[in-house]
Amino acid sequence: MRICMPFAIRGLLLFAAAVGRPVFSAAQAQPFPGTDLQKIYQRLLPQIEKIPAFDHHAHPGFADDPDVDAMAAPPNASEALRTRDDNPELVAAAKALFGYPYPDFSPEHAKWLIDKKAELKKQLAGTAYFNSILDKLNTESSVANRAMMPDYLDPQRFPWVFFADSFLWPFNNEHESARNPDEGVFIPLQEKMLHRWMRQENVPQLPASFGDYLTFVSRVLEDNSKRGGIAMKFEVAYFRPTTFSDPTRAQAEDIYQHYIAGAMPEEKDYRRFQDYLFRYLVQEGGRLHLPVHIHTAVGIGDYFNLSQSNIMNLESVLRDPRYASTTFVMIHGGYPLEREAVWLAAMKNVYLDSSFGELAQYPSAFKQTLKMWLETFPDKITFGTDCFPYNQVLGAEESYWLGVQSSRTALAAALAEMVSENEISESRALELAHAYLHDTAVKLYNGRVH
Ligand SMILES: [Zn+2]
Repeated sequence: MRICMPFAIRGLLLFAAAVGRPVFSAAQAQPFPGTDLQKIYQRLLPQIEKIPAFDHHAHPGFADDPDVDAMAAPPNASEALRTRDDNPELVAAAKALFGYPYPDFSPEHAKWLIDKKAELKKQLAGTAYFNSILDKLNTESSVANRAMMPDYLDPQRFPWVFFADSFLWPFNNEHESARNPDEGVFIPLQEKMLHRWMRQENVPQLPASFGDYLTFVSRVLEDNSKRGGIAMKFEVAYFRPTTFSDPTRAQAEDIYQHYIAGAMPEEKDYRRFQDYLFRYLVQEGGRLHLPVHIHTAVGIGDYFNLSQSNIMNLESVLRDPRYASTTFVMIHGGYPLEREAVWLAAMKNVYLDSSFGELAQYPSAFKQTLKMWLETFPDKITFGTDCFPYNQVLGAEESYWLGVQSSRTALAAALAEMVSENEISESRALELAHAYLHDTAVKLYNGRVH
């Protein structure tokens, strides 16, 4: 950069001389906002609230629905302060969405909310209930990243993102499950998911040949795409390190044939097989126009290993020209490593999703994340809530609300600072808001979502 910048500036000066006026007409950017900051924020926020959003990552559904995710929260997991179900902001959410009249969720008060939702579900039968929640949030559509789709979500407004991890776990998983209590919960659920895909494709048992296994995997992707799936999602960071070596097909085939009948795999063999499978799925994502979503952030469960799942581990895959036709979405934007992560979006086919960052952080901190992203690759970042049903009282509804409100206010604040510091104009700020909240994500799916 140090080498080419003077040339760029010299080019601008030559251009300025040619057209006879200065190129730098706006004032220079300032390190502090001006006294107009609050006024700009107040002007931007209502306009940002009017932008219909596309929620790029969410887990909508009712708390008693086991298909909301392909895995489950491990027992006794620590929760960061704001994501605990005693967060008082959730009272504000229930108030805004349902007119909740109490200041807390004591059991007798919480009953009011349970009854209210039950009554609304009756009034708004079928898909109308969750559609009405999106309407209240001014969310046009929301990804449903779920194991399977239920009949109570309207596929027009809740496009499905299915899970692809289970293809990585076809062998004897006894050792994998025994590694720690979290894996004891996660790995059996991957086995369950793999068996559901087998039932879907009428494959009674895993094929003896590796070629047939890959055919089965591709058929699931193709059929899921036909059934409305717009992308495949990996939460592989929960189960193993996200460093992927680059084995040959023959190596993967050897391992498959060695272990498919039930022998206990050596960890290094299992990993090498998975490395091949992961890359195969990434390539298929390009062929089938199924963007690849990857969980890149801290995760739930006390055994989640942040250093082994560091988003930068994925760099060798993301910057590999063999995958140039695959679109990658880094779900949760690498949080809390989002500062490094945004430079991965230099790749034309790599995008960052901000979901969970807006829940794990308060808006004052999330504003800084968004500002830094908006100042780097503003056309490569997308909005998501990571909403999830907390429990029988606090559902995906309240979680949606908190994610949407936090993101819109932090976005308005980040843009207001950028305007006040002379980085961008107010009209450019609104263009960036449209891109982040809706347009950039929608464009990734070639007309399949709106
Ligand atoms: Zn999620």
